Amino acid sequence: ASISSEDIFAREKLYGCHNYKPVPVALSRGEGVYVWDVEGRRYYDFLSAYSAVNQGHCHPKLVEVMREQCGVLTLTSRAFYNDALGEYEEFITKLFGYDKVLPMNSGVEACDSAVKLARRWAYDVKGVPDNKAKVVFAKDNFWGRSIAAISASNDPDSFAGFGPYVPGFETVPYNDVAAVEKAISDPNTAAFMVEPIQGEAGVVLPDAGYLRKVSEICKKHNVLFIADEVQTGLGRTGKLLAHYHDEVRPDIVILGKALSGGMYPVSAVLCDDPIMMNIKPGQHGSTYGGNPLAAKLGKAALEVIIEEGLCENSAVMGDLLMERLRRLPTNVVSRVRGRGLFCAIVINKKYDAWKVCLRLKENGLLAKNTHGDIIRFAPPLIMNREQIEEAANIIERTISEI
Ligand code: PLP
Repeated sequence: ASISSEDIFAREKLYGCHNYKPVPVALSRGEGVYVWDVEGRRYYDFLSAYSAVNQGHCHPKLVEVMREQCGVLTLTSRAFYNDALGEYEEFITKLFGYDKVLPMNSGVEACDSAVKLARRWAYDVKGVPDNKAKVVFAKDNFWGRSIAAISASNDPDSFAGFGPYVPGFETVPYNDVAAVEKAISDPNTAAFMVEPIQGEAGVVLPDAGYLRKVSEICKKHNVLFIADEVQTGLGRTGKLLAHYHDEVRPDIVILGKALSGGMYPVSAVLCDDPIMMNIKPGQHGSTYGGNPLAAKLGKAALEVIIEEGLCENSAVMGDLLMERLRRLPTNVVSRVRGRGLFCAIVINKKYDAWKVCLRLKENGLLAKNTHGDIIRFAPPLIMNREQIEEAANIIERTISEI
């Protein structure tokens, strides 16, 4: 007999670190926009593994690339060349219009690498005195759980009890142009790093023009503008990159998550030579970064997004979903916001958003609340009209039951 959901919860509780509070559902299979639990119940996946599975679960093209390359060559390390990396590097740099790419694995590593690149540029090019480089972040940022990432965080759940912290970081309120200018006018500033839409903070959209103004201010003060597109990138918001909505060109772009379509951690930092070329052999690296399996997957994952028109679909389906969400009773759902298929509803404090998620699960849709009262809806970008309508019906029914 196969294992039950209850047994799975109990075993993880016993042997695994309790660093997450999962919705009590134990999944064993995924295909497209759906996942199934061990009892065979089907669910809409409205989280997409925090936007890593934009292409849908077990996308046939990605499974094929994975299978094929697994039997050929998976890891050489960067001590040697491999025949897949250069092809991917050429593809991704031409696609996004940057001179060079730095391949890494997880999102947090890529963000950390971007901070390193910015510091190095500050010393070698801008002329900031040794060890004085400052990097500015937006409050409520999230770029992972490493010591550097939590040093940039103002969320006590992230940083409290893990000090001492990395120095040289400062935060300013999100969506506040004047605060950015004040912070970065310090001549020792290397960079301002920001999410075009804050994901983990609860799909928080800045005012139109924020990124444009911030980008201009960075240019004026000779400070690098870094866009963390790990969650917002690769079609999630209805464009290939979220900052395309504002027609800006960041100095550094960070990608992750959907760069492998959920197969395997693949991340990347993109920038031009005057920034990238300050890093010399031996000064940065990663055993798995740029491995042939990741290179093949990265290219295929990007091709799927383009070939299948997932950015356009995300825009159209996102509008459809939000139109339905805006019809939900406002005594329960106090706010709806989003862009493309990157949406969130805010649950009135009188109700418990965690319980809404449990109820959604009972009704066949998986989502997870963030910061208590916000529920993010970010399904795979391959959703069709019928599926949006059915999922919206589930959400509507669930809210009416609350
Ligand atoms: N940056 C952003 C904007 C993210 O949302 C995340 C993860 O949620 C990260 C970075 C970190 O990515 P990873 O969990 O792959 O390290």
